[in-house]
Amino acid sequence: MAERKVRVRFAPSPTGALHIGGVRTALYNYLFARQHGGDLIFRIEDTDSSRFVPGAEEYIIESFKWLGIKFDEGVSFGGDHGPYRQSERRDIYKKYVRQLLDAGKAYIAFDTPAELEAKRAEVPNFQYDAHTRGMMRNSFTLPKEEVDRLIAEGRQYVVRFKIEPNEDVHVNDLIRGDVVINSSILDDKVLYKSADELPTYHLANIVDDHLMEVTHVIRGEEWLPSAPLHVLLYRAFGWADTMPEFAHLPLLLKPDGKGKLSKRDGDRLGFPVFPLEWHDPKTGEVSSGFRESGYLPEAVLNFLALLGWNPGNDQELMTLDEMVRLFDIRRCSKAGARFDYVKGIWFNHEYILKMSDERVAELFMPILKEHGIDAPMDKVVTVVGMMKGRVNFVKELWDTCKFFFVAPTEYDAKTVQKRWKEDSAEMMTRLADLLESLDDFSLENQERVVMKWIEDNGLHTGNIMNAFRLTLVGEGKGPHMFDISSVLGKEETIARMRRAIEVLK
Ligand code: GLU
Repeated sequence: MAERKVRVRFAPSPTGALHIGGVRTALYNYLFARQHGGDLIFRIEDTDSSRFVPGAEEYIIESFKWLGIKFDEGVSFGGDHGPYRQSERRDIYKKYVRQLLDAGKAYIAFDTPAELEAKRAEVPNFQYDAHTRGMMRNSFTLPKEEVDRLIAEGRQYVVRFKIEPNEDVHVNDLIRGDVVINSSILDDKVLYKSADELPTYHLANIVDDHLMEVTHVIRGEEWLPSAPLHVLLYRAFGWADTMPEFAHLPLLLKPDGKGKLSKRDGDRLGFPVFPLEWHDPKTGEVSSGFRESGYLPEAVLNFLALLGWNPGNDQELMTLDEMVRLFDIRRCSKAGARFDYVKGIWFNHEYILKMSDERVAELFMPILKEHGIDAPMDKVVTVVGMMKGRVNFVKELWDTCKFFFVAPTEYDAKTVQKRWKEDSAEMMTRLADLLESLDDFSLENQERVVMKWIEDNGLHTGNIMNAFRLTLVGEGKGPHMFDISSVLGKEETIARMRRAIEVLK
């Protein structure tokens, strides 16, 4: 068989916000596609109309736009294998359902929900399969004329896949190796429902992967139990030769305790599990998003990339290009990956550090504006360069740096008690006079002159600097004093000092 071009897909169902695990699945598909020079397809699996949530599709598209994950084909991206929304592919599926029926690999069943319920009550561990289909109402047990008559009457039916029992089905998984299950444990899955003339997930998924020439199915572990059925469907259609390879990714686990990560864990521990803020149209509930919480998209991707994979050494910080180069689907772990959100915060901190001061300043500007501050860009860049190492999120820069932009109106009581001495008012007046006399207000010159003054007068450096800080910042923390005064400039520095002396004396 000729080498096929690598084609992978991310195929969410629009049933709500995109979970962060789904984002990781999409990222791994993206990395895999890029590193093989292949295509990444975006398909919407919306055949279950009862679970459709308006706005979900748009939400998913916007999430990837924010994250910087680009698709080559699919809903909103175009391409020549469309339509890419399954609800627009009804006629295609009908044809393939017919193919299975004609080949005797699927059959029609009329059992109503009530009848199925009754059977379940009557037969312990009932499943619709080779052992039980003989006692149900379907095209095996009913005469052909009756089947035709019921259909003609408009009676609702489903099409079920006829699973042959007692066969070992092998799923060759790139991460998990050879996974074998016996077909007897599978039930005759419903592939199509006449009620809405739509296929179920399983049929649509296989038909589309085939028609869209998908070569690798990379998806969450929760789909592993469906994989044997999918293998059997490929065979039933005669597509075994071009069956995609499978890779079922490890689960994302709770940050603490046992079990898989849920939205409740996020609410409980205070971190988002969705890429963007989500407004649930049914309940009105608003859930936080990584974007609105102040995460940088690059940091989120880097964090997610390492949940279930590593490059084989302890390198943690990677650009998207590096990830593309280093990613290896076979090195993904089978075991679940703990969702260590504190690590996610660390990544954000590291990405703020890596980012140029200019870019961080651009992100900080709107936050300053929100607080009514209209500061010149060069000042913001200087402040950011001095302070960004102290924050995990850009929005935290406001609290950490606001004294650069607004003079203190209050003075922290504890600091005043501890740092404002008997002679502080006098000392600060002398220091203000000294600074006012300077023509050169550069950091270096201030430092030189002030240090000499302290020495010549036998003053206590700590006491002077602490009081000086209190006058400019209003509290006991912040960067180096002359960094602050030189950014504030002479006029502002002196004004703040004189005001503090007035208030505190
Ligand atoms: N529609 C499925 C989902 O929502 C896709 C599963 C698959 O990738 O086969 O995750």
